[in-house]
Amino acid sequence: KNTLMWFRTDLRLQDNTALHAASIRAKVGNSFLVGLYIISPEEWRDHDEAPVKIDFWMRNLHCLRESLEKLAIPLVIKTAIHKDDIPGIVQSVVEDMYISHVFWNAELLVDERKRDASVKKALLARSNVQVEECDDQCIVPPADVRTKTGNPYAVFTPFYNTWCKLVDSEPHYLELSQTPERNPPEIRTTFAQYFDQNPPSSYPHTLDINNMKELYPAGESQAHRRLDSFIKNKASRYQEGRDIPQLEGTSVLSPYLAAGVISARQCVAAARTANKGKLTTGDEGLKTWIKEVGWREFYRHIVVAFPRVSKSHAFQPKTETVEWSDNEEHFQRWCQGKTGFPIVDAGMRQLNSIGYMHNRLRMITACFLVKDLLINWQQGEKYFMSQLIDGDLPSNNGGWQWSASTGTDAQPYFRVFNPLLQSQRFDAKGDFIRRWVPELKSLNDKQIHNPHGVLSPKEFAKLRYPKPIVDHASAKAKYIAEFKRVLALA
Ligand code: FAD
Repeated sequence: KNTLMWFRTDLRLQDNTALHAASIRAKVGNSFLVGLYIISPEEWRDHDEAPVKIDFWMRNLHCLRESLEKLAIPLVIKTAIHKDDIPGIVQSVVEDMYISHVFWNAELLVDERKRDASVKKALLARSNVQVEECDDQCIVPPADVRTKTGNPYAVFTPFYNTWCKLVDSEPHYLELSQTPERNPPEIRTTFAQYFDQNPPSSYPHTLDINNMKELYPAGESQAHRRLDSFIKNKASRYQEGRDIPQLEGTSVLSPYLAAGVISARQCVAAARTANKGKLTTGDEGLKTWIKEVGWREFYRHIVVAFPRVSKSHAFQPKTETVEWSDNEEHFQRWCQGKTGFPIVDAGMRQLNSIGYMHNRLRMITACFLVKDLLINWQQGEKYFMSQLIDGDLPSNNGGWQWSASTGTDAQPYFRVFNPLLQSQRFDAKGDFIRRWVPELKSLNDKQIHNPHGVLSPKEFAKLRYPKPIVDHASAKAKYIAEFKRVLALA
């Protein structure tokens, strides 16, 4: 009887907890190890997954299949037209391939957990199989990080302090598991047909395909090259560079982390080694970067402890009665990067062109949607998800709720980013704007942040760039008054 590893958002060989456990079990049982991946368009649609992200998954799946092939591990690819077909599909693979043990890495989100529970139920009911779900999505499993009273944390700093203490005191959290062992050669005759299966190597999307392949090359080795190069060349200047979009001072590992092509454990382990074994002291850049990965962990813990946040609810229920604007034209202008606020438009156009947006711009554009346009943060969250190559529900939801002042450590509602000041501070020379808003290319460093405010009407008209769709000061006052009203009712 053989062993099955079901891959999902963990498209890697190295440091893959369930894969490692499955490999050990196959060896002990003197059996073959087999991989499974289920293409599931209905789930993708339900979760607003960006086509460009699915394309990245498919490209990585292709690489994974090649790496598995080198270890004589076949990767069975199935398609579930409807998500409800998934339990039956897993069941049939189990029967066809004489499987006795099924492994996967546990997911964190409500729908995926429900899906996995029904697969497990079907397997345990109908065949003599054992199922093992491994903790792999977080460096420290959510159940291990608790306040003194045994509750989950709802604020980042105390969470991170406890998290660091645990990681420092219990070395197993950062232990990386080994790659699986090679299957015995006879598997190539036993399961010959499964070695011929080729997953789709792309998925249709509207962005520049070659550019996307160049910006985000697929494969574990590419992810590790990126991590190594970031740590060697950029990490020590991360503290200063991470907020200046034009400097490209961040790792851009998020697409790889979201697809599970690299693990957060591998990232933190590498950064900690470079920081001479320290998490919270030592090199400013490295420790700040580790802390950012800590935010990722935090938001993962939040969706587990407070599942309502992934079900369209605010973390702070009292903020749910805000009367949002339904101005569809404003929303469309925001989506298209045509708000007349250069820094906002630059961020949105970066997103629409390359499926990625720098963190500072994510904060500026999100704050603008919510606090200048008074549009429900959930519309923005959905739009980001539908465009991002690194779309990740916990981080996206956490980032949006932070920006909208509805979340855990949300910034106070009365703190509203001024797009002009943000632009002057974080894109002082206007280079980022020039890159993404070519209409403004000819403007000098001073004009570029606020062309409508500083140019004559005639000069402005020549640019063919939209006028600001709102007046920031009055939009801010309107938003603050509305939030105050809501809080007074709570
Ligand atoms: P680096 O600065 O190199 O950081 C390393 C890693 O740490 C990142 O890859 C990411 O996994 C994690 N990280 C960094 N900052 C954050 C943060 N603020 N919150 C959570 N994790 C963080 N991140 C996503 O991965 N997917 C999303 O869908 C997503 N949506 C966001 C939406 C909004 C409104 C905001 C404000 C932030 C969002 N983020 C999201 C967080 C952050 O913007 C990205 O993780 C970061 O820009 C990715 O670039 P990087 O890999 O170069 O990050």
